Amino acid sequence: MRLAVLSGMLGTLLAAQGAAMAQMPQAQGPQLPEQDKVLARQLFKEFIEINSQDSNGSVTAVAEAARKELLKAGFAPEDLVLAGPTPLKQNLVVRYRGAAGSKLKPILIIGHIDVVEARREDWTTDPYQFVEKDGYFYGRGTQDMKDSDAIVVEAFIRMKREGWVPKRDIVLALTADEEGGKSNGVSWLLEHRPELMKAEFVLNPDAGGVGMRNGKVTSMGVEATEKTYADFKLTATNAGGHSSLPRPDNAIYELMHALDALESHPFPIELNPVTRAQLEEDAKIAEPARAKLIHGVLAQPMDEKAVAEFVTKPTDNALLRTTCVATMLSGGHAPNALPAMATANVNCRILPGHSQEQVRQELMKLFNDPKLKVEYVADDGTVSETAPNRESLAPPPPLPAVFVPLRAVAGKMWPGMPVQPTMEVGASDSIYTMQAGLPSYGVNGVAIDEGDERMHGRDERLKVESFYRGSEFYYLFLMELTKP
Ligand SMILES: [Zn+2]
Repeated sequence: MRLAVLSGMLGTLLAAQGAAMAQMPQAQGPQLPEQDKVLARQLFKEFIEINSQDSNGSVTAVAEAARKELLKAGFAPEDLVLAGPTPLKQNLVVRYRGAAGSKLKPILIIGHIDVVEARREDWTTDPYQFVEKDGYFYGRGTQDMKDSDAIVVEAFIRMKREGWVPKRDIVLALTADEEGGKSNGVSWLLEHRPELMKAEFVLNPDAGGVGMRNGKVTSMGVEATEKTYADFKLTATNAGGHSSLPRPDNAIYELMHALDALESHPFPIELNPVTRAQLEEDAKIAEPARAKLIHGVLAQPMDEKAVAEFVTKPTDNALLRTTCVATMLSGGHAPNALPAMATANVNCRILPGHSQEQVRQELMKLFNDPKLKVEYVADDGTVSETAPNRESLAPPPPLPAVFVPLRAVAGKMWPGMPVQPTMEVGASDSIYTMQAGLPSYGVNGVAIDEGDERMHGRDERLKVESFYRGSEFYYLFLMELTKP
């Protein structure tokens, strides 16, 4: 999943205000050298043309292609580790060695190399053909996220060629099954090869991003924390019986009462250092009415009236609280029988600092019905009585070690563009690294035009210029992060 929604929102505000501060054409600033354009494009093409969707593709084939290119560029075989649970789900962990004797912990970059399923008949072009047309690259994964996979591999090769010695190791993990499948590579590596994943902090180009309108960049969102995803299965069961003799213990009604309670009792409002920083930045550029609302939300104690108005917008609501919503429903077995069973799926997006089990307990308290089962549904569909106690840590304030170099490079590439820390209300693989206690940041320099977000969709494409600009950005960012 690659989401740049929040930076898009920020862009909308800028436009609404008619602010000219950040409306930079993206072609200004440092440019990717010709030699690196050729290499970046070749890597991108190679990755796109390997089908790595879960149903009939191979993640391993992408990992092996990247490994071959890095070997050719002079990386040592022992610094290119293939590891994973099955032959088709091998992850590649690349280590770019830092200065000898450095005591600094590595920087870890994670990038998934699987893609969302794409069917030839839905597309104008073949999704597994890399097509350049009208200033765009087309193909499955051009936005999510083989663009960034190619960009980071290219930056590694370029730094190696230039003889760059970073002050600490930079590790790149190219991984399986972010989009689906049963072998999530980040989770697997953290569990089975933790020595490869040791780091001070994590960069994940799958989140965050540069917002653009009509070819002009508006802002950069940097994901600094995210919500946790959880599904819960609600099951009401009872004796059932003949529908001519209704009884009070109807499974459908029982379930309905629980869902009714869910609808009318939202989770409490809560801010953390990242959402606070996000709203502070937001208030600076919002139109006056919205800025006033935001100040009410940020006030201590909060201005309840401002909060009530603020959360009427779904994106703002999702920023301030854990949300749980019914997403699937089934019940009954015949038109003339009392239902003996009714089930619902409740999908929750949990604020950092709270565990899935904690939310399950809160739901049970809310439903106040000991006969109603509330079970946890894992990503692979397994249903269990209790949920994991894991939680993503309540985020620390955004790390200066990341944001100072980031602002310096972003300012060079796109002078005047705001850089805003954000909480992602969706989910990415950063959730695993955050749960492992590693501060994780979604940093991405690829600009996507508002309205042209095609990740997971048909005819996925990326502006050619955005790809090369994003390549130059990541190279400069990695250099700035690791200069002596
Ligand atoms: Zn993704």
